[in-house]
Amino acid sequence: MKKYNFNAGPSMLPREVIENTAKQILDFNGSGLSIMEISHRAKDFQPVVDEAVSLVKELLNIPEGYSVIFLGGGASLQFTQIPANFLIKKAGYLNTGAWAKKALKEAKFYGEVVEVASSADKNYTYMPRDFEIPTDLDYLHITTNNTIYGTETREDMDCPVPLIGDMSSDIMSRPVDVSKYTAIYAGAQKNMAMAGVTMIIVKDDMLGKMNREVPTMLNYSTHVEKGSMFNTPPVVPIYSLLETMRWVKAQGGVTEMDRRAKERAEILYGEIDRNKLFHGTVEEDSRSLMNICFVMNEEYKDLEKPFLDFATERGMVGIKGHRSVGGFRASCYNAQTIEGVNELVKAMKDFEAQH
Ligand code: PLP
Repeated sequence: MKKYNFNAGPSMLPREVIENTAKQILDFNGSGLSIMEISHRAKDFQPVVDEAVSLVKELLNIPEGYSVIFLGGGASLQFTQIPANFLIKKAGYLNTGAWAKKALKEAKFYGEVVEVASSADKNYTYMPRDFEIPTDLDYLHITTNNTIYGTETREDMDCPVPLIGDMSSDIMSRPVDVSKYTAIYAGAQKNMAMAGVTMIIVKDDMLGKMNREVPTMLNYSTHVEKGSMFNTPPVVPIYSLLETMRWVKAQGGVTEMDRRAKERAEILYGEIDRNKLFHGTVEEDSRSLMNICFVMNEEYKDLEKPFLDFATERGMVGIKGHRSVGGFRASCYNAQTIEGVNELVKAMKDFEAQH
């Protein structure tokens, strides 16, 4: 049976990315060796990193004066690395959900942290909009897409202090005005690659300003200066990232990814709003195009498990909501197809007709 993959991450990747990566795993550039078996310093591998960096820069239209690096450790290591490099005295965080809270917690190891705004009062079902940003912050940290709660902002805010964005779950899904950010990071395992690599975009002139020693591996300057090759980088995940970037470019770039995301979301939210069994969990102007969260209406709560079974039988994978929200979450990253979304909608309609 055909499967429709709605996993939240690691998640669906374009089939050709997987096939092309598999080919290089079996035989890298016709060398007779697997890409798993070669040195990251082999002369064949450097072009992989170079092309990946250059495609990320091209696709996101990154201005001069920014570096792109690929590291291990996941986005979670960035929760530590950001304050290690940028928190001198005081940082601000928007508390928009589980990941934002984890980022905030790590920053406290380095200095004073203020919660500039929070949506905890309504179980993170909206993106805070009207808040004042203190001007004495070293930076403001935001999570542009909240993977668990399904909220998102697709605008790049004007910020009076250096702005840092965790874009793990919406990177490459829309054009970004990188010039508004000091740093952007993304665990790549949703829209960029298989799991194992994190992409960081960092503004060069913000580096080297820390007033205390930064441990070598945590220091962004180390990795910028060595072109992500200070130590052994995640070779195969970086290769899969390159293939994904080639795919995004061939499809029409991030503008086309944005168009597709809107098209998918319109279909699915449309059905959630129409169907008598379900409702969306997020306020309308904060709805994520990437992680679409919905629950059963109160009077149909008993049908939650039966619907999950029904959809699973029709090939849906990964639609069970995160335990902190419950219900359902359909993740629709770049590789998600209209066919997949239509199949889910069909399952929702057919299930409704039975009840
Ligand atoms: N930030 C966001 C928005 C995420 O969705 C995730 C993981 O899903 C993380 C951070 C943590 O990423 P990692 O597992 O790569 O550390």
